[in-house]
Amino acid sequence: MKIAILSRGPRLYSTRRLVEAAQARGHEVEVIDALRCYMNITSNHPQIHYKGRILGDFDAIIPRIGASITFYGTAVLRQFEMMGVYPLNESVAISRSRDKLRSLQLLSRKGVGLPVSGFAHSPDDVDDLLKTVGGAPVVIKLLEGTQGVGVVLAETHSAASSVIQAFNGLKANILVQEFIKEAKGADIRCFVVGGKVIAAMKRQGKEGEFRSNLHQGGSASLIRITPEERATAIRAAKIMGLNVCGVDLLRSNHGPVVMEVNSSPGLEGIEGATSKDVAGIIIQFIEKNAKRNNTSTKGQG
Ligand code: ADP
Repeated sequence: MKIAILSRGPRLYSTRRLVEAAQARGHEVEVIDALRCYMNITSNHPQIHYKGRILGDFDAIIPRIGASITFYGTAVLRQFEMMGVYPLNESVAISRSRDKLRSLQLLSRKGVGLPVSGFAHSPDDVDDLLKTVGGAPVVIKLLEGTQGVGVVLAETHSAASSVIQAFNGLKANILVQEFIKEAKGADIRCFVVGGKVIAAMKRQGKEGEFRSNLHQGGSASLIRITPEERATAIRAAKIMGLNVCGVDLLRSNHGPVVMEVNSSPGLEGIEGATSKDVAGIIIQFIEKNAKRNNTSTKGQG
């Protein structure tokens, strides 16, 4: 097969591993920088130009679109979809998953376990907002944050109101959540491929840190997940419409709760912690499923 990887970093671990795994299984691979693609959307024959030539004859495309280029990256992916190229994850599903609020709304509608959460922009009544999520301690998140930046634990009511007021001043959208203390600074990343959890790791925040992000000094290790955790991760992936994703769970007193569904999960942490050939599993999934026009939306979403 001819496979394209939409990635800005050919030297990034995840991109390199996908290239290696595809080549090892006899495929031709090209890494394409979405920001360098330009497109013709006026003709009946959608085209993508790249470095002076027309791209087109790919069988499948693996999107690895960074959060900062979601808008343009998903537009390029949509163009590939319109040309009939099989996308590992569809553009519509990626856009959906990049909106934290929308994702939580979709998951809650289907009854997936979530931390009790409230969202606000400029609440007049902060006390009432805090009451709706059960009061302090709470976790307050800037919706635009990634990798744990903009995620604050407010242990008391007055700390929570000050943080909310400060975020109000920034005119930011915020999410206020019950603090899942019993998770003890750890979360579980379930790596889902084609409706199966193919690897799972526990991420533990460094001493005294409630955030488990590896970027915040956390460490990863292999973990056995419960059948309920497995089922929750699979449901979350299905609801989001993602073939490949990382579902982040917290172990709460009221069962597993989903924090986030990541449509471009990194491979380094999970392959390192589990010694699984995650890249190879992804390529095998593509081999089984890549057929022309095999998308639910054809880029129309
Ligand atoms: P980001 O998307 O920026 O990584 P997250 O929402 O995943 O932000 O939060 C970062 C980390 O903070 C999580 O990995 C988790 O360890 C911790 N965390 C987030 N929300 C809660 C919560 N409601 N209760 C306890 N810990 C939380």
